[in-house]
Order: sequence, then structure tokens, then C-alpha cells
Amino acid sequence: MAERRLFGRAAARGLARGVVTALATTDTVPDRIPGSPEAERDALVLAVAQAGAELEALQSGSSGAASEMLGFQIALLSDEELTSPALAAIECGRPAPLAWTEAMAAEIAGYAEAEDDYFAARTADLEDIRDRVLALLTPGTGQVAVPGGAVVAAADLPLSRFLAIDWREGGAIVLTGGSPASHVAMLARARGVPMVVGVGGSAAALAGCEVLVDAEAGEVVLEPGEASRAAFAARIGAQAAVVGAHAAFRTRPAATADGVAVSVSLNIADVAELERLDPAICDGIGLVRTELLFHGTGALSDEAAQYGAYRRIAEWADGRPVVIRTLDAGGDKPIPGVTITGESNPFLGVRGIRLSLHHPKLFLVQLRALARAAVHGDVRVMLPMVTVPDELAWARQMLNAALDELAEAGIPARRPRLGMMIEVPAAAIAIEEFDADFFSIGSNDLTQYVTAAARDIGAVAELADPGNPAVLRLIASIARHGREAGVDVSLCGDAAADPAMTDRLLRAGLRSLSVAPSAIGPVKQAIAAVDLHGCAA
Ligand code: PEP
Ligand code: MG
Repeated sequence: MAERRLFGRAAARGLARGVVTALATTDTVPDRIPGSPEAERDALVLAVAQAGAELEALQSGSSGAASEMLGFQIALLSDEELTSPALAAIECGRPAPLAWTEAMAAEIAGYAEAEDDYFAARTADLEDIRDRVLALLTPGTGQVAVPGGAVVAAADLPLSRFLAIDWREGGAIVLTGGSPASHVAMLARARGVPMVVGVGGSAAALAGCEVLVDAEAGEVVLEPGEASRAAFAARIGAQAAVVGAHAAFRTRPAATADGVAVSVSLNIADVAELERLDPAICDGIGLVRTELLFHGTGALSDEAAQYGAYRRIAEWADGRPVVIRTLDAGGDKPIPGVTITGESNPFLGVRGIRLSLHHPKLFLVQLRALARAAVHGDVRVMLPMVTVPDELAWARQMLNAALDELAEAGIPARRPRLGMMIEVPAAAIAIEEFDADFFSIGSNDLTQYVTAAARDIGAVAELADPGNPAVLRLIASIARHGREAGVDVSLCGDAAADPAMTDRLLRAGLRSLSVAPSAIGPVKQAIAAVDLHGCAA
């Protein structure tokens, strides 16, 4: 077949080659509105029992290693510990198919990371079990399995589908639609999965094609010829050298060419990300997206699970500040049963702190867990989507209530500093009205709201530019307010991770950035190239 090229936009930089696994639009775990928790629980219990019966039938007709493998799967399926996280998520309002897939993703990751080779080799059995139960739960919508290292092509990719794919062997994403500003693009950048969006056409037509994904230029080469392959291989080699140069910057404190220190912290969406990282690469954690941390685990209503996760993060940081953001669900991060369905414009609806106001009990659980974790480090609490000072005042009252409850019960806790995201223009413009302990600019949302260009609509992605002078002017005025009022200001949106933005952000007066782990080296290198001589801050 002759070589062809598709052009789109780079959403997560990098180069990758591989064979396409195409996901049909319907090839997602159905993110349907759940039935009652009882109905969803019964559906899961029935599917698990049916899957067990199917496996027993298969085992009775097999022998040797096959019988042993089936016996292992049967034993796993009948273990209540396997199903209990999914059942807990169902209690929190998650539909059974999503609850099952996400709980199994966590289980599979645990097995895959096991030191013991025997357990590590059992991940395939868990994947089989996952797919068998899912097929029974969602007849007619069985998921296409994504092999390790595959290039995933789809119209768009929901967050839950991205999280359910194992990216450890590499791979890439090519979307016919999608947007570079979406949350799935943000996660792809954080995980270092190259991603090109908006190539148009049909994802199904790409199935089985060999492709070169150039997520630097936003180009995809289908069925490449010899010359393209050779040139691409040379670029991958050159890229390895660039990555090597970034590595040299990773553990150094960041400073500009003229010696101005800049704090560089980490954004994380998963506690497991930290296990591979040396705390010395950062000045702290600038953003923990808790809506992703507990994605589908049911832990949102479980104080002990939340406390455990926050404590692990605080201990990892070893005294460095850790900014944990309260639940920012809504918008393009729905949580069935928690967020509101059917809003005409979810980005302008009940998301972030607005959602916490709708679910004060959930918020209180999170604040209690955070106050308890604050005993183990410099934990700070950050509120998303604050629009008016009353929301901050209400959150402070709730924090007081959480601390009072803990003190009364004799549970060790400490008051964390309470800060807020600046991502709604109303808060950015009237920042002096907000009596927060610290501010962090959410440039992703601030940009979409200032430019009126939704972050999940590829057709307006050009407009959603954090380099727009109006956005930069707001950032400069927020930084100025922070200096004058003596309140810390950071920026944790994706603009912080873009080396092409570094010079402008530092000139706007910022001296603290928070970025995905993969961006630490490139951003510190970009900082070192900036000369701020004579620039106020
Ligand atoms: C932002 O809006 O810039 C931000 C950091 O929050 P999120 O991307 O999670 O909405
Ligand atoms: Mg935001």
C-alpha cells in the first residue's frame, strides 16, 4: 500500500511508531447513567457468577497448563476481595461496567508491578477476567483489547478508556477529533504518550495500518516507505539525545540565566506516578488532581482511603509543600452519580467548588482526610473554580468543622493552608477580594473562559491560546497582586509545562510553576535560557 499522510495537531509531544488498534465510537465502557446501586450491584454479582460458570465449563474440557490457568481465574473470580472495590464504587453511584473496569485496572496495575515474576505474569489472566465479566455486563459492546505499544486510533478517547489502557510498553494516540486542551490530552502529556488530534476521517479506516506518529509536527504517516522509516528512526535517535540533555536539568534547582530562582513543582494525577520519581527533581507538589486520583475507585466517600493516599504523597515529598486540590469533577470530568447530567454547557455548570457545595458530606470527608494527612507533611488544600469570595468563606467554615470533629474524636490532625485556583476570570480580575492563603493559576480553564473557546472543542483550539495578551495580562496582574500582598502565586495549568511559554510567564512576574513529571527537564532547561535582567518581580 502506498504511503499516505494525515495532518492534525500535536496534543502530547513525542514520536512513536506502531500498528493501529482502532476503537469504534461505541468502544468505550458505556458511561451510562447508573441504575439504583442495588440494581448495579446485582448486575455485577450476576455477571461475575456467570463468568465463573463459563470458566468452570471451559475447565472441565481442558487439561494441563490450560486447566491450571482456568483454575487460577476461577479462584480469583470467587475471591470477594476482587469484587469489593467495584462494589464500593457502585455504592457511590458508579454504573457497574465502569466500576468493574476501573477497579480491575487498579488490580491489574498492582499485579503488573509485583516484584514476584509469578504474579507479574498473571496480569493477562486478570485482563481475561475483566473482559469476560464486562462482555456479560454490556452485551454487544465488548471492548477491543489494546495490545501493549499499539497506536490507538479513535474519534475521541474518554478519560476512563485512556486510564484503562496499559501504556507501559509505549504506544501513541491518533484522534480523528479531540482537542489538545482536553483532560485526556493533559494525561497523555503527563504519561508521555505521544498524541495527535484532529486528523479527520474515520478511525476505523486506520485499523491494522503501520504508522509513524509525529506528535511534534502533528503528522501521521500511514504505511511508510523505506525513506520515511529511515528518517523517522534517525529522529527518534536524535530525540533520545535531547531527552538526555533534559535529564541533566532534572535534579538541579531551576534558575534563569541571570540567576533568578524559580520554583518548579509537580502536577500528579496518580500516587503510583511518584514511585518512579526522585523528590529531588522538584520543589514540591503543586497540584494533585484528586478527581483523577480516585477515578472510579469509590474512595471519594472513604476517608481512610483518601487519608492513606494523601499521606503517601506527603511522605514522598519529604517536607516539601504538597498542594492537594479538592474534587474538581464536572466539565469534561464527569463522575456518574455525583456530577449533574444533561447540563447544556458543563464547563459553565456545576463543577469544582460548586459541586462540593452540592455535596457537602463528600467535601467534609475530603477535608477531614486532608487535615489528617497534614500531620505528615506540609499539606495545603486548594479549591478549584472559585468564582466569588463566599465560596472560599464557606470552604473555610467546612474546614473548621472538619477540624472540630477530628479534635473531638481525638484523631490527630493539623490545619492545612487553604488556597484557591485562579481559573475563573471573575476571580482573576477581582483577586484582591479573595483572602486565600495562596493562589495557583489554572491557565487551562482561565484561557478557555477568557477566550470563550472550549478546551474540548478542537475547532477552536487555535483560539484557546494561553499566550493571548488578555490571558497574559491577567497572569501579570495576579502575580503583581501576590507580590504586593505577600501571598504565594504559582501557575499549574499546562502553559507552565510548555517551554515555548516559559519566557512569557516569567516576564509576567511568575516565579513558581507546576508541571507534569515529564516536563520537569524541558521546563528547567527553558528557564535556564531566560534572561530577566531588569525585569521586575
Ligand atoms: C487548569 O484549569 O489550568 C487546571 C490546572 O485545572 P484542570 O486542568 O484540572 O482543569
Ligand atoms: Mg481547571
